[in-house]
Amino acid sequence: MAIARLILEEVFAISPLDIYMGKDIQLSENDREKLENIIARLHKYEPIQYVLGYSYFCGRRFRVSPNVLIPRPETEELVGTILRRHSVPPHRVLDIGTGSGCIPITLATHWPDSHIESWDISEDALALARQNNADMQTHVVFKRNDILSLGQNHDDLKQSFDLIVSNPPYVKQCEQLEMEHHVLDWEPALALFVPDDDPLLFYRTMVNHAADGLLAPGGWIYFEINREYGHEVAGLLENSGFLHTEVLQDLSGNDRIVCGQLPDINT
Ligand code: GLN
Repeated sequence: MAIARLILEEVFAISPLDIYMGKDIQLSENDREKLENIIARLHKYEPIQYVLGYSYFCGRRFRVSPNVLIPRPETEELVGTILRRHSVPPHRVLDIGTGSGCIPITLATHWPDSHIESWDISEDALALARQNNADMQTHVVFKRNDILSLGQNHDDLKQSFDLIVSNPPYVKQCEQLEMEHHVLDWEPALALFVPDDDPLLFYRTMVNHAADGLLAPGGWIYFEINREYGHEVAGLLENSGFLHTEVLQDLSGNDRIVCGQLPDINT
């Protein structure tokens, strides 16, 4: 019923009050076709956010399409944690694997003077993220980079950031069995899955680049993670010399965020 109400209100501007008051509602031929089309899409398990073309993240409306994940509440918690812990905005921020751009754009609305950069392998995702950036009047710099295949000497790896954040693919192929149709059939596999035999692939790559200079001394890294791997991801950070590593739980009590700090040069 929530979905029905959402569609009536958002697509046809028919408010719950109109319905409760028994207002006589006549859909035009055009609107009737539109409604039938929406119902047919929902029958195929297409997520309502893709049907509407947008979703909300940290109170802001972001465009979404099947080329990007629908932003999750866990990721709002990731962004909330970062904002709470960094009351002084970092100068340079990097987000890896951006999708709709919800993470860097939200950070940019709070930190308008920071340089915020964001990478993704998918041109389609980047096109959408750039639209969200324009809608929100933020100034995130989006670049096409595949973190897994960036050569050691790539110019973008010679930069250095004060904070790195990422919500990379972390669902194992074998977890597909437990997933719902509206995720499995519609959301981009590229953004979701990692091989069963190397579930930490993205984390290992990012931690190595971070420790090799992509993260400045004293800089912080924040990851969203598969709840099964909190301690392993924290271990990767510790083995690369990170301090103050923590595994934080989401509102459902699952391990969901791992963070750590590179030692400062002076300490
Ligand atoms: N949390 C998402 C899910 O469970 C996955 C996000 C991701 O792979 N980064 O579908």
